[in-house]
Amino acid sequence: MIQRPRGTRDFAPDEMEKRRYIESLMRKEAEIFGFREIATPIFEHAELFTIKSGPGILEEMYAFKDKGGRELTLRPELTAPVMRFFVNELTDMPRPLKLYYMGPCFRYERPQSGRFREFYQFGAELIGAKNPESDAEIISLASSIMKKIGLRDYKVRIGHIGILRDILRKEGVEGENASLILQKLDKKMYDEARVVMEEKGMSEASIKEIIGITKISGQQSVLKELQSFKGEAKEYLSQVMEILEILGIENLLVDLGVVRGLDYYTGVVFEIEVPSLGAEKQVCGGGSYSLAELFGGEKVFSTGFAIGFDRTLIALEKQKIEIPKKRVDVYVIPLTEELRGKAFEITARLRSNEISTDVDLMRRSLQKNLKYAASIGVRYAIILGEREMEKNIVLLRDMDTGEQVPIAITELTEWLAHARGIAPEAAGGDTKKRLGGKLSRPSDAS
Ligand code: ATP
Ligand code: MG
Repeated sequence: MIQRPRGTRDFAPDEMEKRRYIESLMRKEAEIFGFREIATPIFEHAELFTIKSGPGILEEMYAFKDKGGRELTLRPELTAPVMRFFVNELTDMPRPLKLYYMGPCFRYERPQSGRFREFYQFGAELIGAKNPESDAEIISLASSIMKKIGLRDYKVRIGHIGILRDILRKEGVEGENASLILQKLDKKMYDEARVVMEEKGMSEASIKEIIGITKISGQQSVLKELQSFKGEAKEYLSQVMEILEILGIENLLVDLGVVRGLDYYTGVVFEIEVPSLGAEKQVCGGGSYSLAELFGGEKVFSTGFAIGFDRTLIALEKQKIEIPKKRVDVYVIPLTEELRGKAFEITARLRSNEISTDVDLMRRSLQKNLKYAASIGVRYAIILGEREMEKNIVLLRDMDTGEQVPIAITELTEWLAHARGIAPEAAGGDTKKRLGGKLSRPSDAS
């Protein structure tokens, strides 16, 4: 047997249904916020990612040469592709440009729970704005998505990379040197960060200040601890927090330890985590950045996030969230060979009326067909028998209750459309009531 590659997954129908459902909620929320979907290629020039993240990222990438000798890679994330697309073709669109995406990403990492080599990101980018309100909009969307899908016990930790960068700059540490330190702080490797800071000749006071700041976290009021610290960054962050409060966003924390090691983050940075997930607890990362100029465009400020779709799903599963299960509405069973044609005729008619319909394809007996219909969770079986067909009648069987009633073929579509269309759950009635204790015609049912 050939196995799938390490770090990849197959998704069975139940799993796919769950994934699509959650994805649809995410899309819906993004669109409610006025974001529109885009898509970019699964592979890109490797350079797109090394320009922004440095050659170190090559180790994590599925990079390869194609037959024309081009250095390509499966995309490890989507912010760079989106910005490349923007610089190439979207600069004339009205700003702010609000885009969202969903798709697979590839990273050569050590697979473990919540860490795969092929995984999915749902993300959004808001391009062309640099204001507390644009950052708040992005944080608000990411948080609202988590709320919408029913996630509990998550925390939205918000920091501002400018606060640390300001102190580093005062000490003459910028560019790559600053990034090196920020990367260590991002991983909470304080001792190692200290060694680098000492090497760069920073004063003991500044080193203490920086490490102290990365440990500041709590309600918005913790920003008061920065009293001695003067700078735009603090004021900016307060404004973001205020807007988020007005927007009613929950589970917010100021956390100046959110650093997100990468160079291109310029201001507000945030992460959403679900502590119960353990080591792989971060389900979303984001912040404001400027990348367009790296890809040959003018400098444009943007802000965005990427949700780790798979980790988010693991968190939902851990809290045992119920996801509505899709059911096939109807299964058509002809009792004789002669009635097979009629069965397909009815099947086609129901399908063209958007009633999901399955039909016996195995020439099974009634008993076996009913067993199969039950095993795949069909709602109604339609049984075609010689005697009934002479009167243009079929038997309609409620697969949940076993109740069975005759119904005229001419009324079948309408009855089923009604039974399905009014969606008993949505209408607030239960199945019993809808069927009036018995299977009844639509005119009687409402
Ligand atoms: P981590 O520190 O966990 O490696 P990251 O900083 O590399 O995360 P980002 O590049 O910000 O992650 O990607 C955004 C989100 O994508 C993460 O918050 C996480 O939920 C998810 N993610 C990242 N790498 C993987 C992976 N290998 N498998 C599954 N999800 C991932
Ligand atoms: Mg990572």
